[in-house]
Amino acid sequence: DIYAAWRRRALTIGTLMLGFGFGFVVLSSVLGAQLRRRMRAESELQLLARTDDLTGLHNRRTLGEILDSEWRRARRTRTVFSLLFVDIDRFKAYNDAYGHLAGDNALAAVARCIGETIRRPADSAARYGGEEFIVVLPDTAAAGASLIAEKIRSAISELGIEHANSEYGRITASIGAASWQPEENSDVTAMIKAADEALYIAKTMGRNRVASS
Ligand code: GH3
Ligand code: MG
Ligand code: MG
Repeated sequence: DIYAAWRRRALTIGTLMLGFGFGFVVLSSVLGAQLRRRMRAESELQLLARTDDLTGLHNRRTLGEILDSEWRRARRTRTVFSLLFVDIDRFKAYNDAYGHLAGDNALAAVARCIGETIRRPADSAARYGGEEFIVVLPDTAAAGASLIAEKIRSAISELGIEHANSEYGRITASIGAASWQPEENSDVTAMIKAADEALYIAKTMGRNRVASS
């Protein structure tokens, strides 16, 4: 009798405590699951924002970030780094003859080919625009860059994608290469311009070839 009231209160309080504890555990695990889902969605979004959806390569924005950091690193370490400007030949004629859908497939195939040809972890490839790609080769001098450019050129040609309106009868690409050791007060746009000029030379020399600035 003496303990009856105390026991009742202890039972009520104990049950309440247990209920609260259980509720807390359930709420925490629901919140935890939701947080994990949100973090996963965020990292997927981040990847989407950095990638070109047609080709799966880096997009223009990511290329800007890569170029910026590689440029600064090469300036700091006084190393040479190289850029390849890859442009598919007669691509407008390809679209006109085979349709835009086939054009998109060819673009994706060329992009895959570029991605598979560059092997070193530091190397990266991005879609610069339409049918143009830029390959960044850190710590690589002109001779190495020409070698890789030639590998990419021949790999694209060996895809053997039919292109009746091209002088080569297949999809090919021209590549301009530039290799620079960055100096103070210089910026990366000049280097892109140099690679673009080399590309122009490759085009005028007959396409499906590599030229260096
Ligand atoms: P060149 O050999 O001088 O490079 O000639 P080109 O026809 O490749 O160059 P031009 O710049 O005249 O045309 C590029 C064409 O690329 C225009 C457009 O039809 C095509 N193109 C650009 N972006 C895309 C794309 O996302 N999908 C498809 N299917 N075609 C594209
Ligand atoms: Mg072009
Ligand atoms: Mg082109």
